[in-house]
Amino acid sequence: MTVDSDHGSEGSDDGGEKGSTEGVNRGSADHDPEWPVRIPLSNEAFEGNNNAYLFAAGGEVGLVDTGVATPDAREELRARLADRGIGFADVDAVALTHWHADHAGLAGAIQAAGGATVHVHPADAPLVERDEEAWSGFRTASVGRYEAWGMPPDRREELIAFLESTDDYDHAAPETTPVEDGDRLELGGTSLDVLHLPGHTAGLVGFALDAPGGRDLLTGDALLPVYTPNVGGADLRVERPLATYLDTLDRIASGGYRRALPGHRDPIADPAARAREIADHHADRARRVVDTLDRIGPADAWTVSADLFGDLSGIHVLHGPGEAWAHLEHLERVGHVRREGREYRLAGDPTDIPGDLLGRGTGDR
Ligand SMILES: [Zn+2]
Ligand SMILES: [Zn+2]
Repeated sequence: MTVDSDHGSEGSDDGGEKGSTEGVNRGSADHDPEWPVRIPLSNEAFEGNNNAYLFAAGGEVGLVDTGVATPDAREELRARLADRGIGFADVDAVALTHWHADHAGLAGAIQAAGGATVHVHPADAPLVERDEEAWSGFRTASVGRYEAWGMPPDRREELIAFLESTDDYDHAAPETTPVEDGDRLELGGTSLDVLHLPGHTAGLVGFALDAPGGRDLLTGDALLPVYTPNVGGADLRVERPLATYLDTLDRIASGGYRRALPGHRDPIADPAARAREIADHHADRARRVVDTLDRIGPADAWTVSADLFGDLSGIHVLHGPGEAWAHLEHLERVGHVRREGREYRLAGDPTDIPGDLLGRGTGDR
């Protein structure tokens, strides 16, 4: 991971009065075929480059997600907005898909510059606001979970050091305003419908909009191209993470969206197909977890993760065993494995386990 230490221009020009932004080239639904405007922002710490999405119409400016609060990403966001004559102080509202630092990180800096309203789901709001009690509870629960997974003490320390290293970022915490499923949010002159899409985090929300050519869904990390969103390690507060996430995939697949605009990488041309592909991937992974337990015998989540993913570093020390645990927990719930202490064992002969071992029926997603 790289954290750029150049703080040279931080805070130098994003304050001040809200100026007139009449006539500037902001892009709009009328003029820009790629609407909303996608702003890629560098991110070497977590899952790769992030997208912020700019909405600017009718004299209003809004952003969905903000990028990580590193000096590099901050300067990139500032420059891309400046290309369109917009300063941080001109942003009226920010809507966050979820609490992760690579999506929410710069919301506080934007709010500090011009008082932008920052919208986030109540389940993720305390972590975005950096509420002390919420964070200390989260950290304590996390360490307990690492132990329960069987993560060796040296790897636990390595992971905690990695996670704490992101505390060096500029975490100016915003005050937030809640948005919940079914709300309609006016952001940057555009109406966005809020969908609660939990799984990756407890309070992840997507935002649906009518764009030229069809209905789009901004998905944050609920749906990504190329790789699958982490489930199980990305937010240890999520109950039944795999089942919860599979429900979210069902909801996306049945929503009739033309396009998904994800939190990382390029737009997804067929969101329903991608949602089904990710669900199939989890079915395959569940089968691999069963095969692992069949081959090596009773094992904890850490051991299953090592068998599935090999040796891991950085954030993957969290995401690997988290993903293994999400599957083990689900397989236990549907009766294919039994847990004894930290270890999981097959509940019966694996050849008796039906093909649909996620216990959810097939073909109807
Ligand atoms: Zn995330
Ligand atoms: Zn992300």
